[in-house]
Amino acid sequence: MKSYVVYTRRSTSDDNHQQYSLAAQEKICRSYAEKKELAITSIIRESHSAKVAGRRPEFLQMLKDLEAKKYAGVIVHNVDRLLRSIGDFALIDSLRNKDIEFHFVDGSYPNTPEGNMMLGINVVFAKWYVEKLGKEVKKGFRESLEQGRLPHEAPVGYRDIGNGLKEPDSVSAPLVRQAFELYASGKYSVDTLTAEMRTRGLRTKRGQRHGKGLPPSSMHRILTNPFYCGIVRMNGVDYRGQHTPLIGRELFDSVVLRLNQRQHRRLTAKPFSYRRLLRCTCGCYLSPYIAKGLTYYGCTNTACKESTTRESVLDGHLDSILQTVVLSEEELAQTRKAMKQLEGFVTEDRETKLRRIETKKEKLRKGLDKARQFFLDGVFDKEDLDAEKVRVAATLEALGKEETRLMKMDLKRLKDVYDFLELSKTALDGLRSASLQKKRGMVQVAFLELNVRDKGLASYKLKEEYEVVQNRSLVSSGGADGTRTRDLPRDRRTL
Ligand SMILES: [Zn+2]
Repeated sequence: MKSYVVYTRRSTSDDNHQQYSLAAQEKICRSYAEKKELAITSIIRESHSAKVAGRRPEFLQMLKDLEAKKYAGVIVHNVDRLLRSIGDFALIDSLRNKDIEFHFVDGSYPNTPEGNMMLGINVVFAKWYVEKLGKEVKKGFRESLEQGRLPHEAPVGYRDIGNGLKEPDSVSAPLVRQAFELYASGKYSVDTLTAEMRTRGLRTKRGQRHGKGLPPSSMHRILTNPFYCGIVRMNGVDYRGQHTPLIGRELFDSVVLRLNQRQHRRLTAKPFSYRRLLRCTCGCYLSPYIAKGLTYYGCTNTACKESTTRESVLDGHLDSILQTVVLSEEELAQTRKAMKQLEGFVTEDRETKLRRIETKKEKLRKGLDKARQFFLDGVFDKEDLDAEKVRVAATLEALGKEETRLMKMDLKRLKDVYDFLELSKTALDGLRSASLQKKRGMVQVAFLELNVRDKGLASYKLKEEYEVVQNRSLVSSGGADGTRTRDLPRDRRTL
């Protein structure tokens, strides 16, 4: 017969008795087990004070026992009794992948497929939060944009001064300005301007690495980047930048107008959705063509006979894939709830840490007072006191840094995740819309790679955030790690 362990926890600092007592939690779990006919063989009663919040020996021992299959699973009153910090999610996740059961009596995560999925989403986002957002890879993206900061590497002409802020680079900024002025004069094409600017010494970082200095594609990118006239443009939305513009809006507009006039013919001649987005399995891009009124994509490599695919077939494939990265209304509602919980964990975790830092600082200050007293009493000489001062100052500085880091652990990032999910919903509409630009935009937003072979999609790679959502159902069965390319069976026309 399978045996189960009951886990109860209460923090001793809970003076207001906001939590159930250990005995009450135990009763609740026992009654649940009775109903479900689960045999309880062990009860864990954990109680700790805020001071040792970092350690939960019984909890960790229980995880070890579960891992060793001493129990089939654990019964707990609710999820926040079990998981106290976001780090705990990861521990639980690995166990769930080993078929260990987690029973939450209360509410949010019943042991049903829906409940599992919800915890799964929770775990996935905790992971994402910890690994990606937590590592400041995504530094409050939206927030940063709204404040007019660019959360990417500075474009040519600017240099990074931290926090997404940029300032004009004294060497390259004047050259970028000249490039705009020269192009606006009408005497240059992008290619001749590139050559001219190369001789004047304009370099891109990428170009420098490849020994090319400045490729024409980079010049085109410079001339179309509104950053130079003070606008941070991201995914089609303009934000007022905080940086100093290198040129005026008027000059920028006239350059863009000139570029468009030159390219007008080319752009309007070939309005294809997936132009330069599809690759053949041989590595070449597919290029679009029209036959009998239908749009096809074919490999540009004449030696390759592999890929010829009708656009409508690709539409169907991409639609099915994108459906898997869009959450249903119900999932969105559950995610919102899960995020709220996660937010609670983050806040609790942070506040505990901040309190601990405050205590340490207080101790240091008292220590320094004592050292001063020793000095006055003649126990310490000047050297001893100075050494002590240096030590305290250094420690205080380190603690201050840690404090800043914790404060920056902004909860808005969680909101970013949620906003992203909402956005991904509207994204699917984009694909289905008749608008070519929207369709193309959506595919560019979600995919890193699209590989085509004869009559359909061979494999694809989603951007990380979409990958996370797509993997949500894998959490309970197999676990999901990292970005990877998905291969599609050759004979599967509809995914
Ligand atoms: Zn090919």
